[in-house]
Amino acid sequence: MAARPHPDPLPFPALEQIYARLPRGFHARVSPAGAPAPRLLMLNTALCRELGIDPGAGTAEAWAGLLSGNRLPRGAEPVAMAYAGHQFGQFVPQLGDGRALLLGEIWDAAGGLRDLHLKGAGRTPFSRTGDGRAALGPVLREYLVGEAMHALGIPTTRALGAVATGETVLRDPPQPGAILARVAASHIRVGTFEYFAARRDIPALRQLADLTLARHPPQEATQETQDDPYRALLASAVERQARLVAQWMGIGFVHGVMNTDNTALSGETLDYGPCAFLDVYRPGAVFSAIDHHGRYAYGNQPRIAEWNLARLAECLLPLVDTDPQRAVERVMPILERFPERVGACWLEGMRRKLGLETAETEDTPLIQDLLALMEQEEADFTLTFRHLTTLAEDPENQAAPPGWSRGEAFASWRVRWHHRLGREPGDAARPARIMARANPLRIPRNHRVEQALEAARAGDLEPFRHLLEAVTHPFEARPEWAAFDTPPQPGERVTRTFCGT
Ligand code: AMP
Ligand code: MG
Repeated sequence: MAARPHPDPLPFPALEQIYARLPRGFHARVSPAGAPAPRLLMLNTALCRELGIDPGAGTAEAWAGLLSGNRLPRGAEPVAMAYAGHQFGQFVPQLGDGRALLLGEIWDAAGGLRDLHLKGAGRTPFSRTGDGRAALGPVLREYLVGEAMHALGIPTTRALGAVATGETVLRDPPQPGAILARVAASHIRVGTFEYFAARRDIPALRQLADLTLARHPPQEATQETQDDPYRALLASAVERQARLVAQWMGIGFVHGVMNTDNTALSGETLDYGPCAFLDVYRPGAVFSAIDHHGRYAYGNQPRIAEWNLARLAECLLPLVDTDPQRAVERVMPILERFPERVGACWLEGMRRKLGLETAETEDTPLIQDLLALMEQEEADFTLTFRHLTTLAEDPENQAAPPGWSRGEAFASWRVRWHHRLGREPGDAARPARIMARANPLRIPRNHRVEQALEAARAGDLEPFRHLLEAVTHPFEARPEWAAFDTPPQPGERVTRTFCGT
């Protein structure tokens, strides 16, 4: 469909064309297919302001035209990005944006550069057998979970808006079509490096690595930063993934499809397909209907992140040293830091969940013993830590979490924790304050997400907006949100999630 002139153009900032200026092998130029009857479903006004855009400056119709790809912002040069990837451990030399387009980059109000991306914008040369479209359910799911993650302080791509296209997409069952406008620190993935490494295109690899260093400069000056930028790039990726996955673990998040094409060099959470949050704590928890062997189980995520980083390291070898053996020797010590770094980030996060700011060697067994008890009790991950928060707020209260059958085991654990808190410096109320900020009251519980999406598919967006408001204030109690804070009843439990592509 041809772009039509709009009576009400939006004052949208002009886009940069940084990725689009890379050589042809990096992307394919594609015009968005557009939408026959675009209707604005959601506009992220807070993110608009971060981007320096006045969300009130345009009508809903103008926004729908823009976010559907019917009308392009100034400077936009849409491209489908090329990438490869390991999907469930199997290498696929060509994946690429099969239904998404990068419109260009935008300077945010803080001076950072972000990608503006339309997901569901139509077919591209990378579509293979796919239709290039996205369905309403998965689009709104990504919108909601991404915003919840952001509110929880976890790096993530974000939704700028969602638009219904007016078309039906053939899924089982058929669904309304939709487009997600996504903003990301970048869409450079481990799979982007794999694409060029598999083709032995060293100049392209170097260009990609240089762009990555420019977009995501290493945060800490390590030895590698001075010696060798490409080893610094790997060190930075190791650090970003360690922090990210540790944060996922601390909140009970299961990404569900940690393929290398869904692993962003920015360190943001990318691609909310069959993701889910733990209700019951179980290290082996798997939700994705296509994860038959539990490769991407909750407790496996640190190991998988390390595996993905090893794939990145392999790609960087030719940039690090022309002698392959020497290159391996130079990257291995960096890769080998990951288990220690993810463990340290995890420990720091878990300490805060227990109100601890200092470090003692017994902290690890203290945390592990709590988790073991939680597993035996089939305890709700979020509610257990909230219960501990209330115990820290009121030292008179020594109750075991509601419903626990091993009261004595909990009591002896609680005494250890209590003694440990007694060794923290500062005033006695401090641990409770730390815990109140580290332990959310509310996560997007799978059954609530499904209920809201069901209503949205039937044409009622109100339950979705209500849930979105609640999950974007995860530390705030309000009577009207109380129903979102409790675990599912047995009949409500969602144990399977789907990509829904
Ligand atoms: P994902 O599982 O969303 O990470 O996607 C994996 C690959 O499949 C990427 O190359 C996507 O672009 C492609 N893909 C997913 N859904 C579609 C679709 N409906 N049409 C075309 N390509 C798709
Ligand atoms: Mg993907």
